[in-house]
Amino acid sequence: MKKVNSLRTPIYRDSGFWLKDIPTMKKAFADEVNHPSDPDLYIYSRYRNPTVVQTEQELAKIEGAAWSLLAQSGLAAIDIALSIFQDSSQPRKWLFFSEIYGGTNTFIDKVLVARRGFDIVRFTPTNDSYSLSQFERLMEQHKPNVVFLEAISNPMLIVADVPEVVKISKHYGARVIVDNTFATPYTLKPIALGADLVTHSATKYLAGHGNLSAGVVCGNDTDLLKQAIEYRKLVGHMISPDDAYRLYDYLKSFHLRIAQHFSNAQRVAEFLFAHPAVEKVLYPSLPNHPTRAIASKIFCNGYGGIVTFDLKGNNFYQKQNNCKTFIQAVSESIHLIPTLGDADTILMPVEPVWGDRYPFPGMVRLSIGIEPPECLINVLKNALDNICC
Ligand code: PLP
Repeated sequence: MKKVNSLRTPIYRDSGFWLKDIPTMKKAFADEVNHPSDPDLYIYSRYRNPTVVQTEQELAKIEGAAWSLLAQSGLAAIDIALSIFQDSSQPRKWLFFSEIYGGTNTFIDKVLVARRGFDIVRFTPTNDSYSLSQFERLMEQHKPNVVFLEAISNPMLIVADVPEVVKISKHYGARVIVDNTFATPYTLKPIALGADLVTHSATKYLAGHGNLSAGVVCGNDTDLLKQAIEYRKLVGHMISPDDAYRLYDYLKSFHLRIAQHFSNAQRVAEFLFAHPAVEKVLYPSLPNHPTRAIASKIFCNGYGGIVTFDLKGNNFYQKQNNCKTFIQAVSESIHLIPTLGDADTILMPVEPVWGDRYPFPGMVRLSIGIEPPECLINVLKNALDNICC
């Protein structure tokens, strides 16, 4: 059949592609690692797929990178980004900022350290902020070849000084990977700041509707692209063409959605800050936030879609009780769902999820959605007005 006059690449569900003769087959295999644009050179969907490539091109544009590669989840994208720097002939340390997604921290402990035998260093914040001089001391002491961080930490929303971290890391010859899931390229583009790779759980804001699992790695360096293509192919961290196609559609509204997430979050943070039942609000634009100055320096378009707050209470049990009462009171409209970046506002109680790491029984993390802000604030107000403090 002749190619039809559609602007979109359709969903190609083929597992293998038709290589029309032996020279084409040879060329396809020889060129595969160069990510060829020739439509006759697709081989096998675990290697590369036209529907996936279409979405990757869109994602690279959004992230301000030369290339992007999709994976089936955010953790798979992180595995690709990290593993391409592994060289068994020259083992080196890797440095991880400590306040990163819990699943990534568990991946580090249970896979990188326990199974693959990595020597890793963790960099922890002091007084809810990352000290650059302490970071520099660790770089000097351990000489890691990879530094991995999130621009906004979870659930405390500590903002890392990404441009300075990149500068110091480069001075010590380390590669930098930024998980940009929380900040999103709407407000921060780490590749433009010199980071080597950016990863995302595209499951979150990039897809944005709570119904798709995906991850992405973005970069500028062609050599890293080749290595990432090879690693993804051999480990099988490939997204399905159906999910890639759906993600392509969701990306059409990316900027509109994120603008609404972020402005709603700002309004909710201000509302919570002024409410008598709330002891503390963590949102990087608020005057009391320990990394406010860094946030206003590095973010160009808002401060994120997550708001964490702590309810008042005279003791542990009263706070715990207030947290339960709040969650119950909003449960018709705001659901307890363990993810973030959905179109609807959703929540997670901090202490039952993070335990001793963040032992704050009255603390709630809100992932702010794209609802009309007045409705959202009304729901929160009705719930909070009934909390005793
Ligand atoms: N990075 C961050 C910041 C996350 O919050 C998550 C998941 O919550 C991941 C990575 C992992 O993504 P996925 O669940 O898509 O594997």
